[in-house]
Order: sequence, then C-alpha cells, then structure tokens
Amino acid sequence: MSSYDVVIVGGGPSGAAAAYDLAEAGFRVIILDKKEFPRFKPCAGGVTTKALHLFRYSIAPVIRATTNTMVVGHGTGKQKTLSTNAPICALTVRTELDQFCLEKTLQQQNVTFELIPGIKSIHQEKDTVTLITKDDRSFECLYLLGADGAHSQVRKLTGEFTPDRTAVALEGIIPYDRLKNIPEFTFDFGVVHKGYGWLFPKHDHVNVGLYTRRPDEVKISKTQLNQYVQARLGVDTVDHVCGFPIGTGGEYYQPTSERVFLVGDAGGMSEALLGEGIHNAIKSGQAAASALINAKRSNFSALEAYKEAIYPVMHDALNCRKVARVFYKVLPVSYAFLSRYPVGTMAMNGFAAGLTLTECKHHMTSFKIDPKVLEPSSLTEYCN
Ligand SMILES: Cc1cc2nc3c(=O)[nH]c(=O)nc-3n(C[C@H](O)[C@H](O)[C@H](O)COP(=O)(O)OP(=O)(O)OC[C@H]3O[C@@H](n4cnc5c(N)ncnc54)[C@H](O)[C@@H]3O)c2cc1C
Repeated sequence: MSSYDVVIVGGGPSGAAAAYDLAEAGFRVIILDKKEFPRFKPCAGGVTTKALHLFRYSIAPVIRATTNTMVVGHGTGKQKTLSTNAPICALTVRTELDQFCLEKTLQQQNVTFELIPGIKSIHQEKDTVTLITKDDRSFECLYLLGADGAHSQVRKLTGEFTPDRTAVALEGIIPYDRLKNIPEFTFDFGVVHKGYGWLFPKHDHVNVGLYTRRPDEVKISKTQLNQYVQARLGVDTVDHVCGFPIGTGGEYYQPTSERVFLVGDAGGMSEALLGEGIHNAIKSGQAAASALINAKRSNFSALEAYKEAIYPVMHDALNCRKVARVFYKVLPVSYAFLSRYPVGTMAMNGFAAGLTLTECKHHMTSFKIDPKVLEPSSLTEYCN
C-alpha cells in the first residue's frame, strides 16, 4: 500500500491548484486521474480576470486571446457591445490549460501523478483514509480531496454531498476558415431557457455553446446549437459537439468528514449565473490546501479550517444563484439594465478589475455608483 499526506482524485483546475499549494508546503501528495494528460474536457476555456489572479504562475503560454469587449444579446435579436480598457477574460483551450497547470504542479517536489481506472471504495478511519482503485491498488492518506468533477465518484462513495441540481452546457468549435466574419466575445441571453448561447473567438477557431442552469426544465440539443450558430454566424456545422454537466449548488455543501473534502465541480462550486467554474475550482482547491496546512501547523480541526476557508466561495455561489434566479426570470428587464449605462459599464470595469459578482454587486449597490471607482487591473504579470 502507498502512503501519502494527501491523495487528490482529479488533476483538473481544482486538483492541480490544491496539489500545487500542498506540495509547496511540504506535503507528500499524489494526484490520481482516470485520464492521461493532455486530456479533453468539455469547456469554453474562458478564464476570467478574477480567475487569472488566482494562478501561482503565469499561464501566458496557453492564452490564445484576451478580450476587453463583451457583446451581449437578447436571443438572436438585438445586441450591444460593452467595453472596458483592460482584459475581462483570457481565452484558452482547456486541454492545453489543464496540461500546462498539471505540468507546473508536477515540477514541484513532493507531488506525483498516477493513472487509475476509477475508484472501487473509500474507507475512512479515525486517523487515515484508504482509497481502493478499480484495479485493486490501495492508497492510504491523512486527507482525501475529491477534485473529480461534476460526476464525482468521491462525492458519491462518501455521501458527503448531494447537489440538488447541476447546470448543463453543450459546446463545439468552428474553424475561422469556415467563417466570413469573426465574432466578438459574445453572450446571447435567452437563446435557451434560463441560459444563453456563447461565441468565444480563439485565434484560429470560435468556441460556440449553449448553457442552461435548469436542465431539469429544458433539454439543450445539438440541433439548437446548430440553429444558434446559423442565426449568428451563418454556418450550420459545428465540430466536436459535446455536452457535460457543470457542478453547481455548492452553497449548500456542508462538509462533515474530518478527512475527505470536495473541491471544484465535485463540491458544486461553479456559479449558476453563467456556469463559470474555473475560478471557483481553483479557489476551492486553494482553500482546501490552506485548511490542511493550517490544521497541521496549529493542530486545529481540518474540517473546521476547511469550512472557514471555503466560506467566501460558497457565499459568492449563493449570491450568483440569487442573481441568476431573478436575471433569467425577468430577462427582458435584466437585458435592458445590462446593456445600458451605467450597469453594463460598471460590470465590465468590475470584471476587468478581477472582482467577483458579490464584490461587483457591492460596488453597484453602495454609494460608489461612479463606474470609474473600479479601476481595471493590469493583466501584464499574468499574461507575460
Ligand atoms: C461545455 C462547458 C463549458 C464551460 N466553459 C467554462 C468557461 O468558459 N469558463 C469557466 O470558468 N468554466 C467553464 N465551464 C465549467 C468548468 O469546465 C468546470 O467548472 C471546471 O472544469 C471544474 O474544474 P474541476 O477541477 O473541479 O473538475 P474537472 O475540470 O472536471 O476535472 C476533474 C478531473 O477528474 C478526473 N476524474 C473524474 N472522475 C474520476 C475518477 N473516478 N477517478 C479519477 N479521476 C477522475 C477527470 O478525468 C478530470 O481530469 C464549462 C463547463 C462546460 C461543461
């Protein structure tokens, strides 16, 4: 049996972020993943400025493009271009981003990676956790992190959390050479029920997709995606179309185990308004790492430390869910607000400054109504 301080299941953004900080603090860590990297993960690869601020290293080598502009539409009808003077989002290809982050993590001492076919069982004792893989390998550790995405096996096997619902997104790509005009970074709200369609230009292709926060009320299909791109881009073929759930609902995750913690989509940490998950995946991975580091240093309960560290992520997820409920319910009104001064401008400046939705909302609803109070930060150190 192999023995570690921390076993992390999943080498995506949440798992890699946790492993990086733990290894740096001297913990012996192993990342287990059922896929060999580089691996495909359905994702539009939009890394917002607030997410860029979380990386411990520059991800410049895998940034395909950045955008200071966001086109917002209502259905496939009217659109409005919002801009600011610094990037609000970096556009990456997830296969490249995750491979890059995993490589950076594995360059640290104390951290290794192993391919597994899946998990058979997890046994929690007073002082240790043992994970048995489907091919009967055993990994013993002090702490286990479930960073294994929206379909988390760690979550299911430990019963730590049952999300009330997940969001769903469908994505594909269109090479530039098939397009007459290259679109701007676009969100068309209401193209699908309680969701939107997106167009993310990435240097040589456009990533297109549909998102709904209520897949229990509506199914999104390849046909709908084709209709959307036909309306916006005048083409009807999308390559590599793939759908996947997005783990939301983490605001209701109440950790109970002293030794097993869920991070990223496994813990439902994506926000429900836009389905953005990379930011909270990294932030929750780092929160788990800091909790374990603090618990070891001060002989404090890891569970209590994790609850405290994860609170800001959950709080923001809850705010996003509340905003999402109202935003999609009265979409014509929401769109009118978003596309007009000062709300759109303030939101853009807030995104460029790397603020979370909670922070943006605070600036908008406090007396700081002048959007200029939100000075966009420079992305230079993250992109170069
Ligand atoms: C179509 C789509 C578009 C999206 N676009 C964006 C976007 O533009 N920006 C954004 O911020 N978010 C986006 N998201 C959300 C984002 O992809 C996720 O929130 C993010 O990937 C979560 O990271 P994670 O590390 O928690 O999990 P993941 O990235 O899902 O990584 C989980 C890892 O665990 C591994 N794994 C799974 N099960 C097991 C197992 N049993 N044993 C071992 N390993 C296992 C997987 O192979 C994988 O490597 C999108 C999601 C979808 C579906």
